[in-house]
Amino acid sequence: MLATALLGFGLCGMVACDGGLAFDLERAVHQSFSGERALLHVERQMKFGPRVAGSANLERTRQYLEQVLEELGWQVKRQVFKQKTPSGEVEFVNLRVRFVGESVGDQGGEKKVEARVWQNPVSGLVVSHYETKNFEAFEFLGANDPGSSVGVLLEMARVLSERPAVAEKLELVFFDGEEAFVDYTETDGLYGSRYYADSLKKWPEKLRPQWGVLLDMVGDGDLAIRVPVDSPDPLVGKLFAAAEDMNLRKYFGLGSQMITDDHKPLNEAGVPTIDIIDMEYDYWHTPGDTVDKLSADSLKIVGQVALLMIEKYLLDKDGL
Ligand SMILES: [Zn+2]
Repeated sequence: MLATALLGFGLCGMVACDGGLAFDLERAVHQSFSGERALLHVERQMKFGPRVAGSANLERTRQYLEQVLEELGWQVKRQVFKQKTPSGEVEFVNLRVRFVGESVGDQGGEKKVEARVWQNPVSGLVVSHYETKNFEAFEFLGANDPGSSVGVLLEMARVLSERPAVAEKLELVFFDGEEAFVDYTETDGLYGSRYYADSLKKWPEKLRPQWGVLLDMVGDGDLAIRVPVDSPDPLVGKLFAAAEDMNLRKYFGLGSQMITDDHKPLNEAGVPTIDIIDMEYDYWHTPGDTVDKLSADSLKIVGQVALLMIEKYLLDKDGL
């Protein structure tokens, strides 16, 4: 007992005094996140044009996401479902993404990968929607909504792939059908996240994620993240703490209202999920939501703070 106590005392400089290893900010995964690379992924999405649920353009977008992710060592599972919408029946596709790492063959075949990667619990979810809202009157490219958060998630996937021990604790999800065809109601909008949240309820208890981080509209050159009030307090505190660590706290604040977004079905399904969103965007749902309104710096601020929040405050501790 005494020896342990003395050892603990002696190492207090290198080891946090609560007994855990001190978090090394310089070696943390967020350091290599590049805003320019995230912006490149936004520009590539623009080339596919409007990316409405059920469209060929969205299928091309999906194939792009799959290619980028698979090259980085992530495995993508398509969650396909049909649902009635005000525009008729639409086929939606969520992309569930988990880290596999080295080639499938080396791990002893597909069955073993299936068991190791998909039947193991993950700590949390990092999510964004990836389809654009349908507008008949004009061409809507959705650079910020949802191009920006998709770009950030893809760049996160790259930096995480360099840290398998962190990547393996996460599931990334790209939701289809976040946007309402007409207006948000119980049955219009949030198609992908509602379906995913429903499917989550059927997972065995021990496999269910403990938390979720949703990104939406995170690329505005004039960045002002305002977390909606229906984001769980412990997660909001961790986001602000990570922003504080990086001297970026001024970009992050609390909103004054609830927002209908993909965090809602997850919270209702028992996975506490924060919505990291900047709704103060002049070009929201207008033809002006183009890539020239975005900044690589904003993508970097959100990408880095979210990664630090995840690595330092959610994975390094015991979750929530
Ligand atoms: Zn939108």
